[in-house]
Amino acid sequence: MRRVSPKVFLVGETRVVEEGMDAYLQHVGAPEWDTDAPSDAEKMTEMFGRLCYRSFKPGLNANVTRIRESNKEYVANLIKVGHGSVIEHAVVNFVFAEVSRVFTHELARHRVGVAISQESLRYVRLTDLGLWLPTVIAQNPEASEIFREIFEYLEKVQLKLAEMFNLDGDKAPFHFKKLVTSAMRRIAPIGLATTIGWSANHRTIRHVLEQRTAPEAEEEIRLVFGKVGEIVLARYPNIYNDFTVEVIDGLPCYKPGRSKV
Ligand SMILES: Cc1cc2nc3c(=O)[nH]c(=O)nc-3n(C[C@H](O)[C@H](O)[C@H](O)COP(=O)(O)OP(=O)(O)OC[C@H]3O[C@@H](n4cnc5c(N)ncnc54)[C@H](O)[C@@H]3O)c2cc1C
Repeated sequence: MRRVSPKVFLVGETRVVEEGMDAYLQHVGAPEWDTDAPSDAEKMTEMFGRLCYRSFKPGLNANVTRIRESNKEYVANLIKVGHGSVIEHAVVNFVFAEVSRVFTHELARHRVGVAISQESLRYVRLTDLGLWLPTVIAQNPEASEIFREIFEYLEKVQLKLAEMFNLDGDKAPFHFKKLVTSAMRRIAPIGLATTIGWSANHRTIRHVLEQRTAPEAEEEIRLVFGKVGEIVLARYPNIYNDFTVEVIDGLPCYKPGRSKV
């Protein structure tokens, strides 16, 4: 048994293919178009927005005589008017590690605009249970001790069953290991530490950030999305420009100026 704390790894993000974007801009008649976007995600967002109205420069669409110049102003307007689908184009890829199955169950309720890869406890045998203590338990020595004892006991049970079925023996076929591992997880605690890969577009991240850092949300998911918020606000400042952050119960609470864009 080991004590853990939830971790957030940013492992990927959408990038612009410059040759392709240049070729498109040439095609649409705006080869000189450029932007002061601070990230590829924001450049992409602006490009797809301008594509809708052919507003890369005045006159390209006869109906457009003035255009917003800066990326900040452009993206802020998309969000203000609720042109939310444009911010779906760019995606961010995260790995959330040392998170519980409590967390992953809650996360998986967000279905729209996400991709999920969850560590398989059919395949991955539980040999060392990771425990994170919610504050209400951590602050109570007696309760903490109960959590520790139960986790240690449940870990021993996993090891005992693995031994009973001789899973580490030379002759144990993989399909049998999988069968037994899958059965054994049924008596593991849902608070055990596991890993989930989560990719989402910015429209989704804005929504989940708001919902899951709200004071009503569970502590662990607030903790994880607090870290997500820190990353995305720093990395994509214009897409999250309307967000404000307030610390409530020691955790950041992210609120957008425009909800559910
Ligand atoms: C504090 C808190 C407590 C919760 N408690 C519970 C609980 O006790 N039990 C429980 O089951 N769940 C609970 N949930 C989960 C909650 O009901 C949602 O399922 C979850 O937050 C996912 O959000 P979402 O519905 O916005 O879905 P997302 O997948 O994030 O979707 C984004 C948006 O797309 C639209 N959308 C998505 N799917 C559909 C659809 N099928 N039809 C129409 N529009 C759609 C909606 O506008 C939705 O808000 C809780 C959530 C929170 C934040």
